[in-house]
Amino acid sequence: MSTYKIAAVYGDGIGHEIVPAGLEILQAVARKHQFTLEVEVFEWGAHRYLSAGSFMPEDGLEVLRRFDAVYFGAVGLPEVDDRLPFQLYTYKVRKAFNQYVNYRPVKLLPGVDGPLKFKQAEDIDFVIIRENIEGEFVQNGKIFDADRPHGFATETNLFTRHGIEQVAHYSFQLARKRRKKLTNVTKSNTLIYTLYFWDQVIAEIADQYPDVEYQKLYVDAASASFVLQPERFDVILTTNMIGDILSDLGGATMGSLGLGPSGNINPERNFPSMFEPIHGSAPDIAGQGIANPIGQIWSGALMLEQLGETAAAADIVHAIEQTVGDKILTRDLGGRTTTAEATSILLDHL
Ligand code: ATP
Ligand code: MG
Repeated sequence: MSTYKIAAVYGDGIGHEIVPAGLEILQAVARKHQFTLEVEVFEWGAHRYLSAGSFMPEDGLEVLRRFDAVYFGAVGLPEVDDRLPFQLYTYKVRKAFNQYVNYRPVKLLPGVDGPLKFKQAEDIDFVIIRENIEGEFVQNGKIFDADRPHGFATETNLFTRHGIEQVAHYSFQLARKRRKKLTNVTKSNTLIYTLYFWDQVIAEIADQYPDVEYQKLYVDAASASFVLQPERFDVILTTNMIGDILSDLGGATMGSLGLGPSGNINPERNFPSMFEPIHGSAPDIAGQGIANPIGQIWSGALMLEQLGETAAAADIVHAIEQTVGDKILTRDLGGRTTTAEATSILLDHL
């Protein structure tokens, strides 16, 4: 019987409600499929910043490193400035554990009326692969000279050949397992150095996958296509910032940000990968027991898939589809179901 060690980091806000819900589902499916999840909970987040001065302890990364995977809520509190160092910690985990792939499926579930009323469930089914450790978010080349009338600020984005190649190979291999279409979403018509380089390296890798249909699309046009023609997408490969923005748009086309899962993946498996919903800590609804737990629960399915428990992962996705298919919907989807009720109905389906 396999045993996996899971670090559960609650984070802030609704993380305290939906991570426990996700763990309940994970333990149920582990019993059914006869593997063991040894879970350790970490009360880290912006709330810890307020009391202890940092999001996680000094040795946080070494602690997490001993686990097979990290199951993460979301961080952020309105009273903690976004630019404070704790924000860097999510980036630090991604970087330290070489989680260069951010995997974000976008899928319209049965029973959910997304905002695209003229689209069927099968029209919206693609994966966004966001480059996760380079690009626009490296916080390099900073000049911050804001306190003068003619002040200015700069920061530099950074792409390396190795960084582009590794995420491109992952994405083309994923496309091979799906409908064999890959769209590179870029903005090389205006970022004419970094994203020109990005395009060039991806086109070279594309030549090594002649069986995958390759296409390049500028992000402005891609945004329109998300709404008008989502059926044209299978695997989207894009940069850190473009991927960040497009995944909220993708989450919205699914009907709610509360549905979207994600994985920060280290494909080589020499470090733990980290799984979290695409949404934030939703302080506006925290503590009310009404948060949609599905993005968090689905992130657990992605975690099991990465750990090799594919049948258990598929079971969770199936239970999610049955639950929302029966119109068991939380408030963000126009229903009245609470977090606890949605979780217990999902458990029944398992
Ligand atoms: P971040 O900066 O961490 O991405 P954010 O500022 O983008 O956070 P979110 O926390 O994602 O904001 O919340 C955006 C909106 O979506 C809020 O109104 C929130 O209540 C809603 N929301 C997010 N997640 C959920 C969920 N799981 N269930 C219900 N509503 C949600
Ligand atoms: Mg956000």
